[in-house]
Amino acid sequence: MQPRDLSSHVEYVPGRGVEEVARDLGLDPDELVKLSSNENPHGASPAAIDAVRGAAEDISIYPKAAHTDLTVDLAEKWDLTTEQVWVSPGADGAIDYLSRAMLDPADPVLVPDPGFSYYGMSARYHHGDVRSYDLSKADDFEMTAETVLEAYDGERIVFVTSPHNPTGATMAREEIEALLSGVDDDSLVVVDEAYGEFADVPSAAGLLSEYDNLAILRTFSKAYGLAGLRIGYALVPEAWGDAYAKVSTPFAASEAALRAAIAALADDDHVEKSVESAEWAREHIHEHLDAPTFDSAANFVLCDVGDGSAVAEAAQQAGVIIRDCSSFGLPGCVRISCGTETETRRAVETLNDVLADLEAPEP
Ligand SMILES: *Cc1c(COP(=O)(O)O)cnc(C)c1O
Repeated sequence: MQPRDLSSHVEYVPGRGVEEVARDLGLDPDELVKLSSNENPHGASPAAIDAVRGAAEDISIYPKAAHTDLTVDLAEKWDLTTEQVWVSPGADGAIDYLSRAMLDPADPVLVPDPGFSYYGMSARYHHGDVRSYDLSKADDFEMTAETVLEAYDGERIVFVTSPHNPTGATMAREEIEALLSGVDDDSLVVVDEAYGEFADVPSAAGLLSEYDNLAILRTFSKAYGLAGLRIGYALVPEAWGDAYAKVSTPFAASEAALRAAIAALADDDHVEKSVESAEWAREHIHEHLDAPTFDSAANFVLCDVGDGSAVAEAAQQAGVIIRDCSSFGLPGCVRISCGTETETRRAVETLNDVLADLEAPEP
């Protein structure tokens, strides 16, 4: 027997891991700098790490109380009801919950190109179709309501990423409002704010009281440094928040992840430090990299290097792992995550050497 026809499905291409690259190159993992997956270079809050240790005692029990507690904390943080907070295994899990809640078979979704591949993957898992709108490199990947509405044709879900991955661009609040008003009543606009903490603009969550066709995605994977635990959430309008009970996988967020998220949420200092560090790193990359860069409001910078895969490959040989953006449809670009000061300086120096070498005529 065979699975159903998966020929239109694509596989997620993750940034390469340190262990994997170290093995290939015959290097010690400690000699490598990994700036390919937008993780927090300062790790998680110490309080979150303690919480995970504490949770170890209780892992034989299904997580229930911790789920309720995190939902209550998040509802308070965002000034929403608990039904409006859809806790999930990573923001990716929340994308699945929204697909389950919205898509009938063959319903189309509209996704940005370049963009985050999981939106389309999730739609396909749920028997939906995928269409895309173009973000133009010539316009610095600018995102306006018009950019999206030009391509929009009644899709059931419209995805916007702000700050955008991999470009770092944000969509202005007026533009998000224009988009919300410009689509049909039964088209859901999902604003993915996976990098929201790093941006100096207010969350679109403030619009949830005015629009019932809006959902926001947030994660603990980036600014909070909990990528390995898989914990995130969606914020949805009150009108249909109760659908969560019908679409969520029971106990999908683990006890350890929930407790870590509760602790991380209470440690404002750690998030603040992480955000300041990313601001410094992005400035450093903009100023010192010998290649054009795009303005970023996130914890990474997209760089126009000519041949992304050659540059990423050469940097990796030199021990610096960055993201070749070919899989995003940007073969000329690489994306560098913001590291610690030492890591970021080393990445920029290495890349500048690589760029100089690639430009030099063959001897
Ligand atoms: C990292 C990321 C996510 C979700 O990450 P999770 O680890 O599943 O929470 C969602 N959207 C974008 C654009 C991302 O880059």
